[in-house]
Amino acid sequence: MYVEMRNIYKQYGNFRASDNVSFGIEKGKLAALLGPSGSGKTTLLRMIAGLENPNAGDIFIDGKRVNDIPAAKRGIGFVFQSYALFRYMTVFDNIAFGLEIAKMPKKQIKERVFELLELTGLSGLENRYPNQLSGGQRQRVAFARALAPNPQVLLLDEPFAAIDAKVRSELRLWLKEMVSKLGITSIFVTHDQDEAVEVADEILITNHGKIEQMGSPLEIYKSPKTPFVAQFVGRSSIVENYESLKGFEKIEHAQKAIVRPEFLELAKKGELKRYMSASEKGIVEDVIFSGSRRDVVVNINGIKVTAERSLEKDPVSVGEEVDIIIYRLYVFDEKETYLLE
Ligand code: ATP
Repeated sequence: MYVEMRNIYKQYGNFRASDNVSFGIEKGKLAALLGPSGSGKTTLLRMIAGLENPNAGDIFIDGKRVNDIPAAKRGIGFVFQSYALFRYMTVFDNIAFGLEIAKMPKKQIKERVFELLELTGLSGLENRYPNQLSGGQRQRVAFARALAPNPQVLLLDEPFAAIDAKVRSELRLWLKEMVSKLGITSIFVTHDQDEAVEVADEILITNHGKIEQMGSPLEIYKSPKTPFVAQFVGRSSIVENYESLKGFEKIEHAQKAIVRPEFLELAKKGELKRYMSASEKGIVEDVIFSGSRRDVVVNINGIKVTAERSLEKDPVSVGEEVDIIIYRLYVFDEKETYLLE
């Protein structure tokens, strides 16, 4: 493991922001810390960077314990949410800043800055000031500045949050490409599941100061270990009394069941004749159009689920009686996730 945290605790007064956190990220991987606001993502990042110290536990970078090494000596680049560029300095000087502090010779600084301008697609903009750049360009300057001293680890705190939607998705892919090209181990914080799924090699789901699950985007999506993870990544509805549904048997000590829209088939009356024996009757409570699809909230004897109705099919309307087949459910008990089919 290139970056590793072992049994980390961090307390702010009575509040435990990190609660026995352990994980490892392999060299060259891009990991996302994904979780709701206040779940402790930024605290973890700041401890890796050395901007904050844990109350207990060990932090390793490249196999070496770094708890007692000051931030500036950890070989880390940090990109903040708000670009944090120097307003009165040109792009060139912003990128050169850390190198000048490190007393790199002028000629070498120039070479390195031009190399980074090229890498980040900013060539030609070196004499501009931050207010003469777009949000996406500013964030790329912030990346270039963080990369200038050749860090071994890149940490990014909500790097896309201040950027508008279209540029944000371009920048995400750009980041993914750049990180894999440079082979630099990177960790970014986000509360946006789409962002984490699209960009990261590994996702760490944070909740109440703990890591609830770590895995590839596909693992997290397909095999959620807790109801929280199932609800945080991918779309889902909670199903109370799932054993009242046809074809599902009760699991001893089960606490919660969850269904995703892709586990359901919704049909207008009569459309699913062949499968009638397996279907439930429900009443449409809401129809939400979201550009590429239509979400339909259906009430099956008090169980509310969200299904998808493709745009090519006849629409359904509120109050209509429909047939629903539920193919699959996640059922959770204290320890395990069961996929019932
Ligand atoms: P967000 O997405 O809102 O930034 P986060 O998951 O990054 O949230 P953290 O910033 O790590 O969460 O904060 C975790 C908790 O620790 C929060 O409840 C926060 O109020 C608390 N906290 C963070 N820093 C401090 C501090 N310096 N003093 C006291 N409490 C703090």
